[in-house]
Amino acid sequence: MYLKDLLTKEQHDIRQTIKKFVDKEIMPIREKLEEDYSLVESVHKKLVDMGIQRAGYPEEYGGGGSHSATTLGIVCEELARGDAGISLSTGINGGIILQPAMMAKNKAILDKFVPAFCENKVNYACLSMTDSAGGADSENPLLKGKYIATKAELDGNEWVINGNKSWPTHAGLASVYLTVCTTDPKLADDGIAIIYVPGDAKGLSFGKPETKMGYRTSINGSVFYDNVRVPKEFRLAGPGHDAHFYYAVMGGAQWHSSTMSLGIAQAAFDIALAYTGERMSGSRPVREWSLAAGVLADMAIRLETTRALVYNYAWMMDHPEQYGPPFTPEMVSRAGIVRIYAADAAVWVANKAMELLGSNGLSPEYHLEKYLRDSKITQLWLGGQQVSRYRVVRGYYDYTVG
Ligand SMILES: Cc1cc2nc3c(=O)[nH]c(=O)nc-3n(C[C@H](O)[C@H](O)[C@H](O)COP(=O)(O)OP(=O)(O)OC[C@H]3O[C@@H](n4cnc5c(N)ncnc54)[C@H](O)[C@@H]3O)c2cc1C
Repeated sequence: MYLKDLLTKEQHDIRQTIKKFVDKEIMPIREKLEEDYSLVESVHKKLVDMGIQRAGYPEEYGGGGSHSATTLGIVCEELARGDAGISLSTGINGGIILQPAMMAKNKAILDKFVPAFCENKVNYACLSMTDSAGGADSENPLLKGKYIATKAELDGNEWVINGNKSWPTHAGLASVYLTVCTTDPKLADDGIAIIYVPGDAKGLSFGKPETKMGYRTSINGSVFYDNVRVPKEFRLAGPGHDAHFYYAVMGGAQWHSSTMSLGIAQAAFDIALAYTGERMSGSRPVREWSLAAGVLADMAIRLETTRALVYNYAWMMDHPEQYGPPFTPEMVSRAGIVRIYAADAAVWVANKAMELLGSNGLSPEYHLEKYLRDSKITQLWLGGQQVSRYRVVRGYYDYTVG
């Protein structure tokens, strides 16, 4: 609510447009989307037609040239109020994967991969980061790439990549895989390499889509690299710099996760507010009893605190001249705070909403059970809540692990 004054007129209009889109195109088919991926694709196509996919890409490739994290946050929050999987895919395809290449101004990568995202069709990107041997270790900046298991070796003018990743979103669908690997784990940060791999590269293969409790509208699977060769120019920026970009990706992804937690919490709160206003208990609606009103108040407190944190961090990303680049321990730490708080808030709010709906909360007819399932995942990915906490403390003191 108080955010209204902080947004530009354009951002306010974008929020209204996406809100209307979600109410019309997603809300009426929330459950069906989980059962039929062709419906999900048709929602994505409508978003492409609205210019959402290309908005964050450079204008010289046909993109919209928007650099605003606040605007992206608005879009992702509103979409997650309808469906978190669609929100996740929209953020990933809308520039999060190619953002490091835009920041590094790596023309070979941009020329190869950006144009497809500016066309009038759905195009998928993938953050291929979680090593099958253990995602938490490879995603923990304190470990400085020591346990990244996917290897890249330079052979003439090509990188040769070998390794396995588990769970990346859009595995098997994407035209580009931002692959986190190491040239030599002993080199620590200098060994970390971010290499962009085309979806049709020889030696790249995929597992079957995972069955999962939530986020059923976005596809996850394994990615296998078997002597995958790509031009050496597809390495992002070189020793040391790639580690910085990896930590920036980690910060950005944590914040992106929090926008989805926020949308999920808002949806659960809306459902509980409406239901308890109609459902009678004795002589009055449920929400007119003080115990229920107190639960709604606690939900609202967590919801609005999450919103303040999410847009506070977006503001920091939008003002690097004041807060520094996104890879500093301070910025990654802040993103961890937002992500942990938002994920816990979404799970808490969805759980309390379930209590207020009673047994009806379990029925798909009331839409709530889907949000509860989706909320849990925002606590688990990106190294989970524990590794996120390591990222948080690293912003305050030099915490070291083995
Ligand atoms: C819906 C969904 C979407 C996903 N999307 C992507 C994606 O786009 N790209 C991608 O690369 N991955 C993706 N993932 C994978 C996800 O990021 C990883 O599963 C996650 O980071 C945890 O890795 P892991 O499962 O291997 O956990 P493990 O490494 O096996 O760790 C298990 C748990 O142990 C705990 N733990 C581990 N180490 C420590 C420690 N040192 N101290 C304390 N506790 C510790 C943590 O709680 C951790 O969660 C996705 C997962 C899901 C469910």
